[in-house]
Amino acid sequence: MSAIIRPGRSSSTRALTCTVERRPTARGSAVTPTSAAPTLCERGSSMAREKRDEALLSALGAEHAEWRPLLALVDAALHEMERAVWAESVPAREHSTAAGEPLLSGATIRIAPRPVHRWAHRAMTIAGAGALAGGKLDPMALFEAAVAGDPDLLDGLARAAGDDRGVLKVVGPIVAMPMLHACRQAWTPLVSAAWAEGYCPICGGWPTLAEARGLDGQRRLRCGRCGGDWRTEWLRCPFCGERDHEHLGSLMPEGSARRTVDVCERCRHYVKSVATLAPIRPEDVVLQDLAMLVLDVVALERGYRRPAAKGRPVEVIATPSRLRALLRLRRWATGTKP
Ligand SMILES: [Zn+2]
Ligand SMILES: [Zn+2]
Repeated sequence: MSAIIRPGRSSSTRALTCTVERRPTARGSAVTPTSAAPTLCERGSSMAREKRDEALLSALGAEHAEWRPLLALVDAALHEMERAVWAESVPAREHSTAAGEPLLSGATIRIAPRPVHRWAHRAMTIAGAGALAGGKLDPMALFEAAVAGDPDLLDGLARAAGDDRGVLKVVGPIVAMPMLHACRQAWTPLVSAAWAEGYCPICGGWPTLAEARGLDGQRRLRCGRCGGDWRTEWLRCPFCGERDHEHLGSLMPEGSARRTVDVCERCRHYVKSVATLAPIRPEDVVLQDLAMLVLDVVALERGYRRPAAKGRPVEVIATPSRLRALLRLRRWATGTKP
């Protein structure tokens, strides 16, 4: 079965011939990355990492001028992650993920208000909504709703702040990134190897991407919110758990064997999949998601969707920590970078 998809004017969303195939039970062969947009795979020094981030950011910005405001936000978040305050504010977790509960669930984050206010204000300013941040919007409430990934809370904040352009929907996930990535870095050792849910074991988000990784084509799911990385089976829909191969398929744009869209006929959801030799760096999952936009067009035109709600709702409390604020003041006084 094949179809011609004509998904719009963007240079990377040119007409595609697309075939639909049943999902194989496994993928064996290694695929060498050949795309113009680099797949960033290896850990390296901070400088090398920045260069690669910038290469991908500028490749995306050159190809999609309309994304530049969003890319500027992602760029700011990547720099913000380097600050120590986020790692210092990761709550201790003792429970493992054995019961299918993400580690973020029920977390109380004690954090000094000042860095939260500074970062939220900066992100809102980059998004051209600095006035909102200086108005009725409570940065701590935004931070809490964004880290939890709660769309209802974000909607309520948007209404209260008079955000009629949907700015918080875009800025919220970016505001949450530094905290969520710090949680992922701290909590990854606590994730059970037997984690079998479709949602992220760290933050409860649905997978942003799937990877067919390494020489044996192991299937891994990746979270764009926190960079999470967990194993799954080839024949299983991450969203509804469907295992019947008759209901699972892959859309394969011609000439793009290493990038496909995995679809489920039962729930009509999809996840984009990319063949990689090594893991995509956690910080780059969100950029790789953008780099594969053409596949979203292919899926949407065929009536598949990403799930609207979060994989596993979690409750998060962000509470101002006066003690941390004091400690940070002392660090400033002694010249340590906050
Ligand atoms: Zn996650
Ligand atoms: Zn499904």
